Amino acid sequence: MFEKFYQLFSNDIGIDLGTANTLVYVRDHGIVLNEPSVVALNKKTGSVVAIGSQAKQMLGRTPGHVIAIRPLVDGVISNFEVTEEMLSYLIGKANTVSKKSVRPRVVIGVPSGITSVETRAVYDAAKNAGAREVYIIEEPMAAAIGINLPVKEPVGNMVIDIGGGTTDIAVISLGGIVRSKNLHIAGDRLNNDVINYVRDEFRVLIGERTAESVKIAIGSAAKGAGPMEAVIRGRDLVTGLPREVIVTDTDIREALAPSIMGLVDAVKEVIETTPPEVLSDVMSRGIILVGGGALLRGLDTLLIQMLNVPIYVANDPLTAVARGAGIVLENMDIYKDVLIGYETDVSPE
Ligand code: ADP
Ligand code: MG
Repeated sequence: MFEKFYQLFSNDIGIDLGTANTLVYVRDHGIVLNEPSVVALNKKTGSVVAIGSQAKQMLGRTPGHVIAIRPLVDGVISNFEVTEEMLSYLIGKANTVSKKSVRPRVVIGVPSGITSVETRAVYDAAKNAGAREVYIIEEPMAAAIGINLPVKEPVGNMVIDIGGGTTDIAVISLGGIVRSKNLHIAGDRLNNDVINYVRDEFRVLIGERTAESVKIAIGSAAKGAGPMEAVIRGRDLVTGLPREVIVTDTDIREALAPSIMGLVDAVKEVIETTPPEVLSDVMSRGIILVGGGALLRGLDTLLIQMLNVPIYVANDPLTAVARGAGIVLENMDIYKDVLIGYETDVSPE
């Protein structure tokens, strides 16, 4: 009786709680929310001032008593209360979209190799935020499902999910992660590389958001997209005054190169420890790139050269995890055994 009522009025929600972007998938509605993972807080009262793109605008621009933070910087909850606030907000939004209000069933993606303490923090944050059932899936698994890889079959699938704070490299077969590696070389690191390069080469200090725009506008991992340049504004470190400099694609490629090599080495390490049969599948089926970092120009070309394996960039790589979480929600009977765990709280409201 209660179950029927529940099915009618409760939501099924998939959440990709990324270090850079948070996406929410609602059953029958698709992706209903896609916002930066940023929360602005009033330091005096502890209350949330803004969430998402509104809060991102405030990063680096807040008056003394407001702080804008990214609660998931390293890929796991680094600020529990704020993550909980963020989840409550997301669940509330999802309920508004679907006009349902009973405590939802939620599938949440987490980085691979997460510890049990961190997993517990995610369960608790989701339950405190109002979830009735919480299912946890590793992000590379969700991404692989989101791009329709046959994760449950006896074939090797390999995905590289390059996010903001972390990159997940994973080899998947028979519904499980066979080998994986999680590292901090991802989009944020590349932004920092740009900041450092501009500081060292031009003696100009730029902010993180400027660095990210330049990376996206003209950044690349390999030559090929033709000469590009961008004008950036920052503070001259000698005079202390504003100054404009012109940077080229060659500059940015040089800035990013050491981190990109670190990424290549990590992928090599995973390949080297992958069992031969699985590796043979990967060699013939290729490696799929997902996450925002997959969009870096020439990354596929460079990886093909360095690894001698076919590389493909997924369609719409930024939404793969959220789409995967949605597929899991809608086919729970098929995918329950690929989750790393679930907890239900069946006590009435
Ligand atoms: P997360 O899952 O950690 O939230 P995302 O998958 O949303 O991360 O990816 C965000 C990262 O992708 C950011 O660091 C952003 O700068 C980077 N990114 C987005 N678009 C591009 C692009 N076109 N080229 C290079 N990097 C990009
Ligand atoms: Mg992600």
